[in-house]
Amino acid sequence: MWRWIFLLITLHLLTACATNPLTGGSDLILVPAGWDEQVGAQQYAPARQSQGGDFVLDPELVAYVRGVGQRVAAQSPVGYPYEFNVLNSSVPNAWALPSGKIAINRGLLTELESEAELAAVLGHEVVHADARHGARAQSRGLLTNVGAVAVGVGVGVGTDDPRLGQVALLGASVGSQLLNQKHGRDAERESDLYGIEYMTKAGYDPRGAIHLQEKFVKLSEGRRQDWISGLFASHPPSQERVENNRRTVAQLPTGGELGRERYQRMMARLRKAQPAYDAYDEAQQALQEDDIDQAKSLLAKAKRIEPKEALFHSLEGDIFLKQENYRDAERAYSRAIKMNPDWFYFHLRRGQVREELNQLDGARTDLQRSNRLLDTGVGRYFLGVVERRAGNRDAAIANLRIAQQAGGDIGQQANQELRTMGVNG
Ligand SMILES: [Zn+2]
Repeated sequence: MWRWIFLLITLHLLTACATNPLTGGSDLILVPAGWDEQVGAQQYAPARQSQGGDFVLDPELVAYVRGVGQRVAAQSPVGYPYEFNVLNSSVPNAWALPSGKIAINRGLLTELESEAELAAVLGHEVVHADARHGARAQSRGLLTNVGAVAVGVGVGVGTDDPRLGQVALLGASVGSQLLNQKHGRDAERESDLYGIEYMTKAGYDPRGAIHLQEKFVKLSEGRRQDWISGLFASHPPSQERVENNRRTVAQLPTGGELGRERYQRMMARLRKAQPAYDAYDEAQQALQEDDIDQAKSLLAKAKRIEPKEALFHSLEGDIFLKQENYRDAERAYSRAIKMNPDWFYFHLRRGQVREELNQLDGARTDLQRSNRLLDTGVGRYFLGVVERRAGNRDAAIANLRIAQQAGGDIGQQANQELRTMGVNG
């Protein structure tokens, strides 16, 4: 019996020792067959949730970015079912999960100047997936929590959003490691090289990739914190990369399109809203430093420029919540949810506020929705509290036990709550 199981496992691994479809080289990849597809499918949604959620303000822009991504990905010899999304984060970043689940942040789109530059970013990410750089990192033991893939639970925090630091993410541990992993130089070179090849075949001017790297080098000299925590954490720019790209491009046919005007046209609404997002980012900072007046006046400016951005109404809710004005906080979060029902954070906070307002049924619905979108320690904690107050002891204990695993402040609060209920923490 055991021999058979052993044989099965061996076969499983052997099938995973794969030829690199791009270089033709053969590498030892010690992950089970289907690992890339499984991780990509399981982690894509929670990874997007934990990195700001999808950008929904301008659906035309999102459709455009997807179109550029698919045009480049159509040149891939691998042919995963690629997906592209824009995330609502000001941090300049882009990433790929295994099997071609790709995201680019709003904060990177605003730094680009042409469709060819966008194609260069997305092509680079497509190659990370095609060349299975995630599976390679996993095989070299660079990622921990392997078991978490199958189980889907584990504590892992990986987010650029300061609000989410206290939220304690559950169930996204391998995903967050994949997002934040620093690819080796070989993997980066491979992604640059084949990414440029894809974009050129797709009809873009490969000089877009050179412009992009030159821009990154210049930006890295400025040492802006958001860049250092964003793209440059996993992609350190260097003059060497610029030179490599120049050499690659010199050997490729010219005549492709840069698509500068089309890019600028598609970006018009976001560019106009840019000062609003800047004011919002500053308002969030001010709120964290307890400067409520400053936060309010910056937020008013943001809302004047772009009244339809859900984030701005949610931050208004955060301000009211901090002032313990639960009624107005509830209204603000409801406006945010109406504009964008798909980000966990709005449901999490409204659930928290409804618990304060003794609206237990509404709170439960909100918190369950929040935990479905992204399982968090805070969401589990408040759901536990709601269930205890509603007299559902078993459900309360189950949720509080999960909140305990999150550790930190919220884990201790869950402990406390369980002790109050007469349950051993
Ligand atoms: Zn890369």
